[in-house]
Amino acid sequence: MDDCIFCKIIAGDIPSSKIYEDDEVLAFLDISQATKGHTLLIPKEHVRNTLDLSEQKAATLFSRLPKLARAVKTATQADGLNIVNNNEEAAGQTVFHAHIHLLPRYLDGDELDIHFVSHAPDFEALGQLAQRIAKEVEA
Ligand code: AMP
Ligand code: ZN
Repeated sequence: MDDCIFCKIIAGDIPSSKIYEDDEVLAFLDISQATKGHTLLIPKEHVRNTLDLSEQKAATLFSRLPKLARAVKTATQADGLNIVNNNEEAAGQTVFHAHIHLLPRYLDGDELDIHFVSHAPDFEALGQLAQRIAKEVEA
């Protein structure tokens, strides 16, 4: 896609710190380095985000994750690693070409703050919501 920054990186029109490439995917360092070693994995074909991926394209993209994650963690000597995928603006997506963030984590302090707020469980509401989503999965 012409005005897509990640398509331009794939085409070599703008530079990137490349880590891995094959016919289907590209991995490179995120320019903003939320933590040291922050890496992006993207499909070479322009797709808006995970919600638009076919099962086949998702299988291809996500199959590259474990090896890449191990490599990023080992090379950075990180203590852990978050894998994050933002879909649509409300979820923090700013580049609308599908991508997966690999974020090495360091026990002795990094600046990344990912946390879930816990709520007391309402089992009836949980059951109803699970049913509604399950129907959509079957649709
Ligand atoms: P998201 O907010 O999930 O859409 O993530 C987009 C990511 O792309 C951000 O973390 C940016 O720092 C990163 N990014 C934007 N432009 C570039 C670029 N030219 N090279 C590498 N990473 C980039
Ligand atoms: Zn693109």
